[in-house]
Amino acid sequence: MKLSAYRKKRNFDATPEPKGRVGSAAKDSDTLAYAMQKHMATRLHYDLRLEWRGVLLSWAIPRGPSLDPAVKRLAVQTEDHPLQYGDFEGVIPAGEYGAGTVLLWDHGTWQPENLNADGSLTEREIKFALHGKKLQGSWVLVHTRGMNGSGHRSTWLLIKQRDQYASTEDITLQEPRSVVSRRLLAEIARDGGADPARASMGDPPGKVPRTAKVKPARERSKSRRRA
Ligand code: MN
Repeated sequence: MKLSAYRKKRNFDATPEPKGRVGSAAKDSDTLAYAMQKHMATRLHYDLRLEWRGVLLSWAIPRGPSLDPAVKRLAVQTEDHPLQYGDFEGVIPAGEYGAGTVLLWDHGTWQPENLNADGSLTEREIKFALHGKKLQGSWVLVHTRGMNGSGHRSTWLLIKQRDQYASTEDITLQEPRSVVSRRLLAEIARDGGADPARASMGDPPGKVPRTAKVKPARERSKSRRRA
């Protein structure tokens, strides 16, 4: 069962993350889901999710994506996630795996550009196109080590390929808000009953949450219960 690693790490009585299930393989490679989540956990990182054969292949990217083809970003492969995870945004409670705030930073579809003859993904590098709201065009994930069970975590580099979407501007600073709720990390944390000050360490400096004032007590307890 491909989601056993995902499920073993989580207590679904405590976390709002989806338990999910393995989906059916997409019939059409035009409709493979793509998502990028910004995750303020022990350390800030971005989680790249690419639908493949009924699950989301996942990589944690400490510094996030760069649109500059000269920049290589470390991407550590993590456990496969259920397809339902691609919609998740919210607070993972303290003490749970990945505790912190998750912001759905980008989503859309992706297309692999270099499959093996049998239709499987190539092992050393995955060339692909992203069709997101923020990230588009051609990208490559290059596998650097951790192959063949060497004991290392599987590490890759995420690199933008040269095309009209390449840029030296920092999209993570230009577009920090959620693609679905337009919230910053601090706002998602506050709405989910977590510490907005801690979450705001992942927001760009100088970005002030839209509702910075403290909500009345009644409203606050309501949003806690909802989370
Ligand atoms: Mn994460």
